[in-house]
Amino acid sequence: MKYDVVIGLEIHAELSTQSKIFCGCAQQFGAETNSLCCAGCSSFPGALPLLNKRAMEYAVIAGLCLNCKINSYSAFDRKNYFYPDLPKAYQVSQFFYPICSDGYLEVKGKKIRINRIHVEEDAGKLIHDEYLGVSLADYNRGGVPLIEIVTEPDITSAEEASEFAEMVAYNLRYAGVCDAKMEEGSLRCDVNISLKPQGSKELGVRAEIKNLNSFKSIERAIEYEIKRQSEILDRGEKVKQETRRFNDNNGRTIPMRSKEEAEDYRYFPDPDIPAILFTEEQLKEIAKKVPLLPQQRFDIYTNQYGLPPADAKLLLTKKDYSDFYNESVKIYNNYKDTASLFIVELFRLINDYGYDGEFKFTPAQFAKLVKMLDDGKITKAAQKAILGYMFNEGKDPEDIAKERGLIIENDIEAVQKAIAEVIAENPKAVEQYKSGIEKVFGFLMGQTARKVGKSASPSIIREYLIKALQD
Ligand code: ADP
Ligand code: MG
Ligand code: ZN
Repeated sequence: MKYDVVIGLEIHAELSTQSKIFCGCAQQFGAETNSLCCAGCSSFPGALPLLNKRAMEYAVIAGLCLNCKINSYSAFDRKNYFYPDLPKAYQVSQFFYPICSDGYLEVKGKKIRINRIHVEEDAGKLIHDEYLGVSLADYNRGGVPLIEIVTEPDITSAEEASEFAEMVAYNLRYAGVCDAKMEEGSLRCDVNISLKPQGSKELGVRAEIKNLNSFKSIERAIEYEIKRQSEILDRGEKVKQETRRFNDNNGRTIPMRSKEEAEDYRYFPDPDIPAILFTEEQLKEIAKKVPLLPQQRFDIYTNQYGLPPADAKLLLTKKDYSDFYNESVKIYNNYKDTASLFIVELFRLINDYGYDGEFKFTPAQFAKLVKMLDDGKITKAAQKAILGYMFNEGKDPEDIAKERGLIIENDIEAVQKAIAEVIAENPKAVEQYKSGIEKVFGFLMGQTARKVGKSASPSIIREYLIKALQD
């Protein structure tokens, strides 16, 4: 039998605030275990929460990036469950009144709807040591601010799911609210997946695969589930509604627990945290912090600047790169050559020497380097060499070119003398050119360039030769 695949994602993203959501402890990946904890985030009885305002602001920015409606009223609830990653036995989350609702993100022209985004606290991390037969708890992650992005079941393939997750990661990273490093767990994805007979309106029973930590495993887990569920349905049996875990080593999913329902969590409003109210003005101020997003930049690069899509994508791999490129072409608008100098030469340097979050030269200096070639002041080979010095030493391209004797002097007298000689030596070619046979220009140009040697740039020779031939 043929089936339609139905997928909804729940994406957890850690907000990159300095401190945790309800206390002043720092949040930092990779710190010594249990070193970033206080009475609050280690769930001591009686400790009271104090909401981190910046976390709410970041959640609003995330919502705006994902085309959501921002709710001026939202509130926190307690989600009760008992598990050692959360010793107070409830997680503070937003159940009844989430901060954002009704958004979408377009993936290859298709709108994937977002049901809601809510804010919550992350739980601690349990490390199950099979050798010693114990579980160890690290509460550094406890109380890190999270958003959970919940989609509608609009996704229909493994590829679409991982692309959606990747787009979310890109947007959050550009907006600066989450570093979205799946390998560090700052972005994690749960996949809900079910099958239904092709064309059927009714949704099938779903399995939920928890905590996938790479785009590749999102795809692999979905592919495995499609196979597993279709085999069950083909046998005329029913898929169990359950939570499953993906094993990266063998590409399979295994049951973890039966699916809990909302009532299992006994949600109720948290009495310790007042509701969150945003005014129109506050929301307007926050909206100003949303930068141009990758998709918008891509459209500008390809439609207005005429860059090939592949080049546009390369410039967009980091917001830093795209910002730098944008600044540079604002100063000198040779879009294509700036892009190719960036992609070919600068990326090669980054590859060889690394990039630590900053270049030693400014966008204005980069723009100047592009213009120097256009103005015939340097050769292409010199441009490449100069960029190398800029990258490692951070000086102005003009100073580097002068110091290293890379400026083409453009000895106009020598150019004019050479042109006069070439015209005198080649009367026939000159005649042909004047009668409209333009292809002889290349020949005359070559003759002149040979006489001039390195003392003038091709563009200057060309300019004077055209002038002389018109006389
Ligand atoms: P819960 O919070 O209990 O996991 P939700 O109803 O909030 O349940 O749904 C969670 C996710 O599962 C959403 O992304 C939703 O789109 C998706 N989903 C719901 N029903 C199905 C289904 N039958 N098949 C696939 N995905 C589904
Ligand atoms: Mg769920
Ligand atoms: Zn704390």
